[in-house]
Amino acid sequence: MENGDLEVLCCFCGQDSIFNKAIEITIECDKKTKDVQAVYAHSKCLDKVLHKSVPRAFDL
Ligand SMILES: [Zn+2]
Repeated sequence: MENGDLEVLCCFCGQDSIFNKAIEITIECDKKTKDVQAVYAHSKCLDKVLHKSVPRAFDL
């Protein structure tokens, strides 16, 4: 199994996704130290939670 086939959890619906298909969302927890946390999401779940006025740069 290659890394791209790893299962990741969608942070919005809690269901499994595949690393290569999931959108990686980086949260900058601390602006000074640049500490980041990465979470994953289905594109359709991210689309659902973003306000309609926010442009989408990702494929659905
Ligand atoms: Zn999802």
